[in-house]
Amino acid sequence: MDLRLERICHSYSDLRVIEDVSLTISQGQVVCIVGPSGCGKSTLLRFIGGLERPSAGRVLQIGAPPADSLNPLTYVFQDFALLPWRSVEGNISLALEEHAISAARREMIIEDVLARTKLSDFRKALPRQLSGGMKQRVAIARALAVNPAVMLLDEPLSALDAQTRELLMEDLVDLWTRKPFTAVYVTHNLAEAVRLGHRIVVLSRRPGRIRTTVDIDIPLCDRRADDPVLEAHQRHLWDLLRAEAIAADKELVHA
Ligand code: ADP
Ligand code: MG
Repeated sequence: MDLRLERICHSYSDLRVIEDVSLTISQGQVVCIVGPSGCGKSTLLRFIGGLERPSAGRVLQIGAPPADSLNPLTYVFQDFALLPWRSVEGNISLALEEHAISAARREMIIEDVLARTKLSDFRKALPRQLSGGMKQRVAIARALAVNPAVMLLDEPLSALDAQTRELLMEDLVDLWTRKPFTAVYVTHNLAEAVRLGHRIVVLSRRPGRIRTTVDIDIPLCDRRADDPVLEAHQRHLWDLLRAEAIAADKELVHA
């Protein structure tokens, strides 16, 4: 299933947040959306996920989700959003409980996503026993459990330290390489974007409009943190974003 955003515009009262964003997310692609703080990235993701409707424009789903997909779209948030009283498997199971599937199938799915996210030894642990990186692996496992057509990730690594972020990036690449998924990945972190994005969409400061789109055709599994080509892409993205970020930073807070 592809997603097509057609001429999305949005205002909250008189605050213009998104301006004329059109974009296609093709099946099997990771599309990263970058832009300065407050430019409308999370808002755009909420429109894609159907949590909110834009003032104008539309989001189209082209084609059908996979036959065994339980939810076409799933989210991963910066703050993990785990239920503290539920174990790792209990949190993953949560995504499955609203669906009429057999206990055996539920167990099979849980085993599969635990293995894919390297959590098999932690299934009985509670969130408070886990590091931030492990908590985010649980949230990713929960998102994968429903076999979504598109995963929507909102700054998934932004609450983690640099080393944990690096490990999670490696895990995400590994996950994608073994079983490609479609994702919209919102981040303000350009290093993440060039490591994980097949396509990187750069938004301007608010109201967010597409400044440019960069395609990187190096396979995800061949991307290294110190790859000079990726570094050049990152510098180019920063050149585009720097002026936007300075202007956004100096803007008066809208109260
Ligand atoms: P980003 O994720 O790029 O940092 P957001 O999409 O969260 O930006 O927000 C874009 C702008 O819209 C910000 O100025 C924010 O304050 C404003 N905003 C977001 N949600 C709401 C809302 N529900 N009501 C009013 N303003 C909002
Ligand atoms: Mg945001």
